Order: sequence, then C-alpha cells, then structure tokens
Amino acid sequence: MYDVVVVGGGLIGMLTARELHLSGLKVTLLERGQAGQEASWAGGGILSPLYPWRYPDEVTALAAWSQPRYEALCHCLWQESGADPEWTPSGLLMLEVEEKSQARDWAERWEVPLEVLDKFGLKQWEQALGEDAGTTGLWMPGVAQVRNPRLVRALRQSLENLGVDMREGVEATGLLIRNQIVTGVATQRGSVTAERVVVTGGAWSGQILAEIGVHLAVEPVRGQMILFRGQPGLLSRMVMWQGRYLIPRRDGHILAGSTVEYVGFDKSTTAEALEELRDAAHILVPALKSLAVEQQWAGLRPGSPQGIPYIGEHLTLKGLYVNTGHFRNGVVTGPASARLLADILLGREPILDPAPYTFSLPPSSPSP
Ligand SMILES: Cc1cc2nc3c(=O)[nH]c(=O)nc-3n(C[C@H](O)[C@H](O)[C@H](O)COP(=O)(O)OP(=O)(O)OC[C@H]3O[C@@H](n4cnc5c(N)ncnc54)[C@H](O)[C@@H]3O)c2cc1C
Repeated sequence: MYDVVVVGGGLIGMLTARELHLSGLKVTLLERGQAGQEASWAGGGILSPLYPWRYPDEVTALAAWSQPRYEALCHCLWQESGADPEWTPSGLLMLEVEEKSQARDWAERWEVPLEVLDKFGLKQWEQALGEDAGTTGLWMPGVAQVRNPRLVRALRQSLENLGVDMREGVEATGLLIRNQIVTGVATQRGSVTAERVVVTGGAWSGQILAEIGVHLAVEPVRGQMILFRGQPGLLSRMVMWQGRYLIPRRDGHILAGSTVEYVGFDKSTTAEALEELRDAAHILVPALKSLAVEQQWAGLRPGSPQGIPYIGEHLTLKGLYVNTGHFRNGVVTGPASARLLADILLGREPILDPAPYTFSLPPSSPSP
C-alpha cells in the first residue's frame, strides 16, 4: 500500500512524485508509455509565459515562484542523474509588440526586468535578425530556457536513483472508489492501492476523470515545432515575432515554434505548419534560409480555461487530487505547481493561495 499513486509520468507527474518523495511519502508513479515522452518532451522549454502580461495573475504567480529556483533544480537533477537539462539564461526578445505600456506596467508590478529597444538597440543585441522582423522590441533579460528532452531524461533518471517506484508501460484504466473515498487505481495489470491518487495525465486528464463521472475542463491543444541544425552563435537569444519564436540551443540547433491547434487527440504533423513555421523563422533570421529543417514534431498541450492549471483535492471525493491543465506553460510553472500540490496534500503552509487553482470549479471562459 502506497501513500500516493501518481497517474501520468510527464514533467508534472514526475515533479509531483519527486516533491512528495522528498517530503517522506511512499510514492508510485504510473505511466502508460515511457515517462516524459509526450507534451513535456515536445515543448520549447522557454521559462516564461509568452507575452506574459496577457496571462492571469494565477499563471504569473506560479511562474514567478519557479523561475528563480530553476537553475538550482537543474543543477540538482544533473547531479542526481548525470544528465544536464541545459538551463541557459539566454533572455527573450519580443519584436513589434503593440501593448508596450501594458507590458511595462506588468513588469513593474511583478518586478521583472524588461527593456524597450529601438532598431539600434535590436541590432546591437541580436545581429542575426532580419530587417522585416520589425524595428522595436521588448527585451526580457532574465528569461532562461531548458532543453525539454534532457530535462525529462534527467528527472526520470533522478527519480529512479532516488528509489521512487516508477512503473512504465502501465496504463490507469480507472480509479477505485469506496464510500466517496478514492482508494487506488485500476490498471490493465491489476489494482494499485494508495491513500491518495494524484492525476497528472496532461491532455488525457479529462479522459481519466471522465471514467468516474468527474468533469475537468482539460482538452488537447496541438503544438507543432520544427528544428534547424545551425552553428553555435548564429543566434544567441530567444526571439519572438507575431506569436512565433526561435529558441537557440547550446549546440547550434534552433527550434521554431509553435502552432496552437484544436484538433483533438491528433498528434500528426502537417505540411501547412512546416511552411508557416519555416516562413516565420526565415523572416526572423534570414540566415536560416540556408539550413535544412532537420525534424518536425507535435505535442498535445493540456489546455485549460485561461491556462490556469487545476491543483488540489476534489471537493467531494476524498483522496482524489489533480495537478494538470498547465496548457502552454507547464515547464515554467511545473516546479511551483508540484510544490503547491504537495503542500495541499500534506496540509503544509502553501507557497501560494491555492483557491484560484481549485479542482471542480465549473468551467469558465474559453481557452486563450
Ligand atoms: C509545442 C509545445 C511547446 C511548448 N513550449 C513550452 C514552453 O516553451 N514553456 C513552457 O513552460 N511550456 C511549454 N509547453 C507546455 C508544456 O510542455 C506542457 O504544459 C507540459 O509539458 C504538460 O506536462 P504534463 O506532464 O501535464 O503532460 P504530458 O507531458 O503530456 O504528460 C502526461 C503523461 O500522462 C500519461 N498518461 C496519460 N493517460 C494515462 C493513463 N491513463 N495512465 C498512465 N499514464 C497516462 C501520458 O502518457 C503522458 O506521459 C509547450 C508544449 C508544446 C506541445
């Protein structure tokens, strides 16, 4: 019998399992495939919401808690696993943003460094930028990135090394409930009993809960990305233009993302997205025209109303918790949401007011 069974081994499930394990609980993690191969693998790893002033404070609060802790977390995971998540403080430059005063007010309120740059400033900061990408920009020097596939690899290995019981290839097929109390999880390989169950199934969380008649407003939102193989130094900062971004990795790879598509559980890639992402990348950095696209992929984000994740216990089913619905910001908000979930589950003083993340609120406005 476990203290907690965590259902879903993406970044959120693994961070949650780690937090609970380090708090002294006996944890098992169920993952139907291999841990960290879905949205958490596919993402860009920008450690900030894009155009962050457009998000509700509930998202900013989670990001603001995680950001100053990310470097130390990555260092710890590197030491525990031998895999480097490549935390890199490359900064984020957003071109041709209209809401400059809104952005400035937001930055002042949250004490986030943000500078307005003109054309001279832009060229000085990033010489690779194309003339057509605009003449003004907003520069956020404090924004870092991680390399998703390496972050999840490090986390998976560290959980294994810490002795967390990870069961891959095990699909949760239902939740066990007796007298309105959740007592474990049914899988195709038998039952796993536990005092508490935490659902961290990403885009599939709604499906897992629908099995027991619980509605959760989480839906899959496809994001496609493409990858160029460049030379280190071609681009040194993360740059954004008209909702499209480029992320330079340390070894010269450059990621271009991403689409936002409501197409259900369809993870296929399309020729239209390839063309759209490639065209935007060429406008941003014309030197990319001479480089081939090496790879294209898609991931399913766990979309939620306004992008605010659900973190906490179900109001009537005791022992049932969720940590899901992180939408476009699960990498940057993940550490805070795992810690908040652990605080709630353990009855500790929470790092943030848990009320806005309450599980089983009626669905509100549509996703951004
Ligand atoms: C293209 C793209 C770009 C992104 N860029 C960024 C970014 O730059 N910054 C940022 O902060 N965020 C970004 N995100 C968002 C971020 O990646 C997600 O919010 C985050 O990865 C969600 O993590 P998760 O663990 O909830 O979901 P997932 O990683 O999808 O994990 C869910 C896991 O649950 C498992 N599962 C499902 N059902 C079951 C079941 N019945 N039994 C057992 N296991 C089950 C799945 O196999 C999966 O491994 C991006 C996402 C995409 C797709």
